[in-house]
Amino acid sequence: MDLYEYQGKQYFARFGIPTSPGGVADTVDEAVAAADAAGYPVVVKAQVKVGGRGKAGGIKLASDADGVRRCAEAILGMDIKGHTVHRVWVEHASEIAEEYYASFTLDRPAKLHLGMLSAEGGVDIEEVAATNPGAIARLHIDPVKGLDEATARRWVDEAALHPDVRDQTAALLVKLYTCYVEGDCDLAEINPLIVTTDGRVHALDAKVTLDDNATFRHPEWAEYAGTETDDPRERMAKEKGLNYIGLSGTVGIIANGAGLAMSTLDVVNQVGGSAANFLDIGGGANADVMAAALEVINADPAVKSILVNIFGGITRVDEVAKGVIDALARVDLRSPIVLRLDGTNAEQGRALLAPHLSDRLRAEPTMIDAARQAVALAGGER
Ligand code: GDP
Ligand code: MN
Repeated sequence: MDLYEYQGKQYFARFGIPTSPGGVADTVDEAVAAADAAGYPVVVKAQVKVGGRGKAGGIKLASDADGVRRCAEAILGMDIKGHTVHRVWVEHASEIAEEYYASFTLDRPAKLHLGMLSAEGGVDIEEVAATNPGAIARLHIDPVKGLDEATARRWVDEAALHPDVRDQTAALLVKLYTCYVEGDCDLAEINPLIVTTDGRVHALDAKVTLDDNATFRHPEWAEYAGTETDDPRERMAKEKGLNYIGLSGTVGIIANGAGLAMSTLDVVNQVGGSAANFLDIGGGANADVMAAALEVINADPAVKSILVNIFGGITRVDEVAKGVIDALARVDLRSPIVLRLDGTNAEQGRALLAPHLSDRLRAEPTMIDAARQAVALAGGER
């Protein structure tokens, strides 16, 4: 799970990594209030989970409340590489003397942690890596041994950072490493890590990716759940515990098993349609799961028809059929459904559904026939 910059900075702060004082704002008035609290001049920063916000105009400096008003008006609602800005982070502006780069991530083939440090921060680090790889000092860290300050100091020298800030930077790097390890990050990146004109080193940006496999030991991560995705369909599905990915087509798809869901997408494409989503309801699709799945798909205005493709294995088709009937009673569907039910107890399942079939609820014997029906109901081929 990726964090927004402001969440990353709050995460850093827990581990003692210095950041600038600031606050979040969803409206222009809130931005002014946050700026008043942070102290002028301030920088207003678009909160989107994509890099290069600065170049895209999503980061602006302001010296007074009117300036903040203008910046926030320009940035809120802005589109940055397909991400709409709903929130800004307003922090006290720093006077920058140097911009460095620092990060920790996992080097899987080496089975070691990898630290990267460079005096050429601020800009696109991929570009530095491509054009001037020597400018990045890499440090492999044995997870059992960890990172001590003496090693961090040598690393700072190797990266040719300013000797005056060696000890400060080394101390910060040890904290960042602790954040990365104890905070269960897949990536902890600061770009730029700055030295201010009065000689303080601190994080001006934060890019943190949390390791989803460690969620069980971080109840505090629950606060990030609601802000994780921009897609309201995906947020709703996540709340319902569904494995859902929103797409841009018109046929809503429900299948049991990721493999079957992907094959269904392929078949819909093959017959000239396009999928509105990928939704795997997994094994044991009971009425609750089916109703939740239909609700999520129903909430997508682009959906014109729904294709339910179930192949019973351990999942029994008669149970799925009961789930569909029960779910239909609960959810007021906008779109017609085409069912394809096969596998364990398929006969019993079809028999249960037979009295419920209509123009709005159809059944087809094969996957390709069901896909053709669904595509036709969605308005035909693209
Ligand atoms: P990114 O473009 O999404 O990586 O956003 P960053 O947070 O890294 O900011 C991009 C650039 O904006 C930085 O490299 C700085 O040059 C500039 N910037 C950000 N905050 C400040 C600040 O407080 N003061 C000054 N002078 N420049 C800033
Ligand atoms: Mn940055």
